[in-house]
Amino acid sequence: MTWKTNDSEKLYQVQRWGEGYFGICQSGNLCVYPTKDKSGPQITIQKVIEEMKNEGVQLPAVIRFHDILRSKVQEINQTFKKEIQDAKYNGAYYGVYPIKVNQLREVVEEIVDAGSEFTYGLEAGSKAELMTALTYNTNKNSLTILNGYKDEEFFKLAMLGRKLKKKMVIVIEKFTELEQLFHLSKDYDVEPIIGIRAKLSSKGSGKWAESGGDFSKFGLSIPEIIKAINFLKVNNKISWLKLFHFHVGSQIPDIRTIKSCITEGARIFCHMKKLGAPLEFFDVGGGVGVNYDGTNSNCSSSINYNLTDYVRDVVYILKDICEVENIDHPNIVTESGRAITAHHSCVVFDVFGQNKIAKDDFNIDITNPHLLIKNIVEFYESLNITNYQEVYNDACMVKDQSLDAFKLGVISLEERATIETLYWKTINAIIELTKNLDNVPQEIKNLKKSTATQYLCNFSVFQSAADSWAIKQVLPVMPITRHAEEPKVQAILADITCDSDGKIDNFVSSAECGKTIMLHDLNENEPYYLGLFLTGAYQDIMGDMHNLFGRVNEVHVYCDDDDPTDFYIDEVIFGNSKANVLQSMQYNAGQMSQMVKIMVDKEIKDGAMKPREGVRLVDFFENSIYGYTYLK
Ligand code: PLP
Repeated sequence: MTWKTNDSEKLYQVQRWGEGYFGICQSGNLCVYPTKDKSGPQITIQKVIEEMKNEGVQLPAVIRFHDILRSKVQEINQTFKKEIQDAKYNGAYYGVYPIKVNQLREVVEEIVDAGSEFTYGLEAGSKAELMTALTYNTNKNSLTILNGYKDEEFFKLAMLGRKLKKKMVIVIEKFTELEQLFHLSKDYDVEPIIGIRAKLSSKGSGKWAESGGDFSKFGLSIPEIIKAINFLKVNNKISWLKLFHFHVGSQIPDIRTIKSCITEGARIFCHMKKLGAPLEFFDVGGGVGVNYDGTNSNCSSSINYNLTDYVRDVVYILKDICEVENIDHPNIVTESGRAITAHHSCVVFDVFGQNKIAKDDFNIDITNPHLLIKNIVEFYESLNITNYQEVYNDACMVKDQSLDAFKLGVISLEERATIETLYWKTINAIIELTKNLDNVPQEIKNLKKSTATQYLCNFSVFQSAADSWAIKQVLPVMPITRHAEEPKVQAILADITCDSDGKIDNFVSSAECGKTIMLHDLNENEPYYLGLFLTGAYQDIMGDMHNLFGRVNEVHVYCDDDDPTDFYIDEVIFGNSKANVLQSMQYNAGQMSQMVKIMVDKEIKDGAMKPREGVRLVDFFENSIYGYTYLK
């Protein structure tokens, strides 16, 4: 059967994780559909790479698709609007975008702009983020929500926002913050708006489950909430209290967790109202997950619901409980970040080589072979469908024995090489023999990974896919081109850091998350590009400087239906130069160039180097230090 682009779409599960924004077009290229409409504009990622290269932007690079970001902001607002209307719910939707998820100014500006037709605001969790929200949230009627622990300066900045008529809500995370704010507010002739974050007993699920529950880091327990309401009442400040908040963790995989938290939150909200709190907003925090691995399941890299399911649950559960408790429907606030930003960016990089682990290309000479060689040949030749486990065990034993024999000087280097070659030949034959069999033991299934070819990729996992390294989050990876051609190499990805952890060996695959990915063999003199997708949430800022590679180049792409390519690059932000990353570690590029020059001068003076060569070497060092950190 000939391979079709549809086969590729299935193999890499593009439709599942791509949510209609990504697809493979007839030419076999991976494309972006910014409007999710296949008959609408279509951006070919390879063309973006070509244009980047023409503009001198080297790989690896982040590509941001701003139209996806806008589409996500519109989607959450429109979904809430529709569900609120359908449910005849009396409150309105006031979403906020949590800046921490992706703080880049261009990202925040785009979100604020896309949210300007709605009441969509910003959330901040630190003083620097507060300053960003204060200056960049230009949507007049929207909220600015201030979470996280606070000090006097934080409160003063929030009061400055209130003076500028911003709807800044200070969320109280611990009781002493309330007392501190009460004393500070006397110096201002403006009333703060406050919220209270509750510690729900309903616990989250997934990797961030600890953000909720009785022992979570933030929020007030039920006794503390009652104490706070009493404190505000006694001091005649209960009118400050407008918002009720909880957040039970990011990437919640299971909709039942969401239902349970909203139910508990809604009850607390109603009882707080009955105690006299004039609450107007019910803030459910973030947590809407992303279907990273495409399985639509409740495993930690996926979600068993979609945005409409989530919105419906928030609206209907809150409505039902408020009606039972005889409380007016509040306005609804969400702080979704991951679900808004994940899809809009990807990292593209080139493959610059392959490491074949299980090589069987050593020329075997078995005239007068050693007994160990004779044994392994015999095992290999006896392999069949009934004895593959036994042959595997025997082959492993011979390999171990050959190592001991080599260490004792009993076999030569060539004999060891012969045994290793025959061992991998046997392993490859076992993989081939068992590939379509049922009930193959896990140990044998795992052999696939041990024989996978390493694709050497020009990027740093620590910079560009921090969660893949730190918490084993699955991020979709796939080739940018050649989708009309069957990929035949079982591979894992190795990055360019000098760290054995710098690899990706967990992939989206058709059954469950796979340990290897099928890729195309490399063609000589033809670049092979891979993309790492859904990297728009958290990855940019969590990335680190391991091996001093630093930030990668990035381009901001907009859709333009009138352009023959359907896109244009609006902005290029160059990544770190070596001078940049060295400076962050207290080095000075100018001084380092000077130090090289002194060393070169000495060589010239000693007659070991010609002056012309010395000048050339110093120029080369100077040019290099101001250049990109990644491989050219
Ligand atoms: N709100 C708060 C208080 C958070 O701590 C977070 C992140 O964990 C968010 C919102 C954003 O969550 P998510 O990106 O999962 O939507």
